[in-house]
Amino acid sequence: MVHSRFASIALIGFVVATSYAGYTARAAIHPSVTKHLDNARIQAQLGKTDEAVSYAQAMLMGNHITVSVDYGDTPVAQMPACDEAVKGAFDMWETALDHEVTFSRVSHGEKSDVKIKFDQHTKLNNQIVSGYINWSRTVEETTEGPKPHFSADVFLRTTDPAGNKMTGKTMRHTCGHEFGHMFGLDDVKEVGMLMGPLDIRHPLTKPTEAEVDTVKAIREECHNLIVTAKIGSGTHAEHFAENGHDRD
Ligand SMILES: [Zn+2]
Repeated sequence: MVHSRFASIALIGFVVATSYAGYTARAAIHPSVTKHLDNARIQAQLGKTDEAVSYAQAMLMGNHITVSVDYGDTPVAQMPACDEAVKGAFDMWETALDHEVTFSRVSHGEKSDVKIKFDQHTKLNNQIVSGYINWSRTVEETTEGPKPHFSADVFLRTTDPAGNKMTGKTMRHTCGHEFGHMFGLDDVKEVGMLMGPLDIRHPLTKPTEAEVDTVKAIREECHNLIVTAKIGSGTHAEHFAENGHDRD
């Protein structure tokens, strides 16, 4: 592990903002982000500009993210709440990131970056969870060079542990939380942060200032990496002098 390389990004994890209840809460960066950006830096140092840029781009996920929704076993009457949750999660992150990233829904079955699946019985490792996400962020070697790739599957539960139907607002919190992972955030213990546990009586409407600052810092780091990788890769040819004379 090359910890020194992590210094700049590790600091970002400690963005502090004044939060509810009079104490300060911190947003956390998911460990995979640190590794991923370290890969980008290593590629840049090896002079592999395209690879370095692709790693940074895989983290940025492009400016436009397509999302498809599978309602699963959701009762028809609850589908509008699911739509409200998805739309609300789009809005909260588009606003937080000053519309640098936009989301759009595509039909179920169509190719999309993110697939959301609603289910009454969502569980992970046999535990009832309000939702979870599996994502893949890779750089693919193609004949045209390296290509960034990002995709994610988001699972959202439509019932609470007592068996009651979740509202659009509670599912919006969880959907926004899973998107927070996509943008590079890790879970925190504090209730009252989007990346904290869901309190179904008080679902959040948006990420906290610390969470937004952290995601912005990760993205800034990606943009810097792209610029630095490109600067470090200039081509300059040295010509031979002809007939023993210096060319001019
Ligand atoms: Zn989480």
